[in-house]
Amino acid sequence: MNREKIKLGISSCLLGNKVRYDGGNKLDHFLTDTLGAYVDWVPVCPEVESGLAVPREAMHLVGDPEAPRLVTIRSGVDHTSRMRRWADKKVTALVAEDLCGFVFKSRSPSSGMRGVKIYSPDGTPVGTGSGLFAKAFQDRFPLLPVEDEGRLHNPALRENFIERIFVYRRWQEFRSLDKTVAGLVLFHTHHKLLIMAHSPGHYSALGKLVADPKKYRREELLDRYLTTLMEGLQFLATVRKNTNVLQHMAGYFKQLLSTDEKQELQNVIDNYHRGLVPLIVPMTLLQHYVRKYNERYLKQQIYLNPHPLELMLRNHV
Ligand code: SF4
Repeated sequence: MNREKIKLGISSCLLGNKVRYDGGNKLDHFLTDTLGAYVDWVPVCPEVESGLAVPREAMHLVGDPEAPRLVTIRSGVDHTSRMRRWADKKVTALVAEDLCGFVFKSRSPSSGMRGVKIYSPDGTPVGTGSGLFAKAFQDRFPLLPVEDEGRLHNPALRENFIERIFVYRRWQEFRSLDKTVAGLVLFHTHHKLLIMAHSPGHYSALGKLVADPKKYRREELLDRYLTTLMEGLQFLATVRKNTNVLQHMAGYFKQLLSTDEKQELQNVIDNYHRGLVPLIVPMTLLQHYVRKYNERYLKQQIYLNPHPLELMLRNHV
């Protein structure tokens, strides 16, 4: 795995910067201490960068849930135009950063990526939506993996996000070095089992795309591939789907293992399926056989090693 750090945008207060309306921060130790070992953070505080002071009056979203306004809670000052103007310029500037994703601060009227409360002018909740900067970012970069720090406390969502940022980074590397159809076929081959674990439907659609590359112009082919890939990876790799992939991998060793070894492998996969052991357990045994028998197809599968072991993302039941 390439050890160069991955570049991710982040809501600045999550790094411990004291930029919140009350002069505080929302330091998140998982992001700074654990994921931070692999990430080069690009901090963004929409409220401060658009010219507001620290401390400042707290704001919330008000009005039409389709196009909410950013308004201070006590005195009713409307900062919508200021924020929209700044966000337009900021997302354009961020193109040059080549980000692989963004971690947003949840529930913020500027930075929350989803589920931010929207109120009527009299203060009654009327719906939920995205903070103004988070919306501008997602509109500009619809394929980039995004999450908020609240959702990243869920192990399945955390693993999913981290897999997607590593895939996106490998895609950036592929695009910068090689734009050939042969390169795309190789990229797809390496990611096959990973995609299968997320969405068998997208796996099949991507297989058809690379099998018939002449159907589209090169750039269109690459765009379609990336769009379908990132859409498919948003589906969680569930126990059921992972079990199917593990069984598929076990099939490669049918002729090579003894009856006892085959039984042991089946037991380990069954135990994972029943929720008795984490994914790392059958994966470790399969990795052992891949090494032992130098299984060429499986050896190159990203699924075996999609993110650094130290993040322990496959260690939960
Ligand atoms: S949530 Fe966003 S706008 Fe608010 S302090 Fe954090 S980075 Fe700044």
